[in-house]
Amino acid sequence: MNQNQFQSLAGPKLIHEAIWIQAPGRINLIGEHTDYNHGFVFPASIDKKMYFGITHNGESGENWIWAYNLDKEATFKSGDYNPEGSGWEKYLQALIQIWIEKGYPSPSVRLAFGGDIPLGAGLSSSAAMGTGFIYGLSKLMGIEIDRWDIVKIAQAAEHKIGANVGIMDQFAVLFGKESHAMKLDCRDHTFDYFPVNLPNHQLVLINTKVSHSLAESAYNDRRAATERVLAFLKDQNPKIETLRDISLDGLQAYRDQINPLDFMRVENVLEENSRVQQAAEALASNDLKSFGSLLYQSHEGLSKKYEVSCEELDILVDLAKKEEAVLGSRMMGGGFGGCTINLIEKNAAEEVAKRIMDSYKDITHLEPEVYFVSIEDGVKEIS
Ligand code: ADP
Ligand code: MG
Repeated sequence: MNQNQFQSLAGPKLIHEAIWIQAPGRINLIGEHTDYNHGFVFPASIDKKMYFGITHNGESGENWIWAYNLDKEATFKSGDYNPEGSGWEKYLQALIQIWIEKGYPSPSVRLAFGGDIPLGAGLSSSAAMGTGFIYGLSKLMGIEIDRWDIVKIAQAAEHKIGANVGIMDQFAVLFGKESHAMKLDCRDHTFDYFPVNLPNHQLVLINTKVSHSLAESAYNDRRAATERVLAFLKDQNPKIETLRDISLDGLQAYRDQINPLDFMRVENVLEENSRVQQAAEALASNDLKSFGSLLYQSHEGLSKKYEVSCEELDILVDLAKKEEAVLGSRMMGGGFGGCTINLIEKNAAEEVAKRIMDSYKDITHLEPEVYFVSIEDGVKEIS
């Protein structure tokens, strides 16, 4: 669905002249499970988008919402929160509640939203929804709001509905820029834009179409492991505040004093951080071969050392490795399902993606999906 189609469907439902916003999905080129370890991530916003039409709904304090993709409506009062409600409704209620808690005026809106970011595929449809809505609300009410404050409101709303997320997704959706990826330092939240010019290559996501229930417990387990090692390292050396304060060589010195599994987890975090740095340098010097090889290395580490991959993701990456036109491939996101991200020579991309998908279907009897993505602007108002 494109912007025009959405506007012609949503416009009449909004009754009054609306403000229109678009919010993209995001990819992460490299840097997985590094965010909560104060490391680096390398996301970019993409051309899959969610659109929002937003306007006033009188003085009643009532909000009327239309979710285009689900073709569902909801009505609720600002400040209310119904824990029994459906996911998207609770999320909007949480967003409005937190907006009010931050001291902004209580809204009364008509909102239509929807687009083509697949839900729950790891492209951050939830961050697009949260940040796009709050951005639209601020525009509608004529309130100047810092983009970082939107990041925090959207993150807090996800926490409220039980999704224990970091800030990368909201950050990427809000700060994204056409043809650029952002290397974000999750320790101090500084970031740099890196041009991503791919005249002869294509970024391709392949959706395994699985999401294993292990993801949450494994996430908590990996967090606990890295925190355990950090606590130990802090005891050894008070100068160490985060895992960023120790080098791979420095870590080796403690190998005998850390349980081997925990050691392997932390080693991967440090290696993944180093891969992000190398990947950024490779991109900056247009060395796509090295960049691709880092994607493969990242997958290897996440699969074998951090152990957050799954059979389906490994199958997709193994199939990609057999293709000469694929420069690199890895699982993207927290793991246990979702998409792989692949860098493929443009001429061959269609054919190669089809071949990988056909083999995947034969092996798993699942129906994968493919998304050819390009890097576009972050959240913005459209006319
Ligand atoms: P991801 O952010 O990776 O796509 P999440 O599970 O975090 O996956 O977010 C998906 C949730 O976000 C959905 O369950 C729903 O509550 C909300 N959501 C996302 N996109 C839409 C949409 N187009 N319409 C309604 N709700 C949506
Ligand atoms: Mg999400």
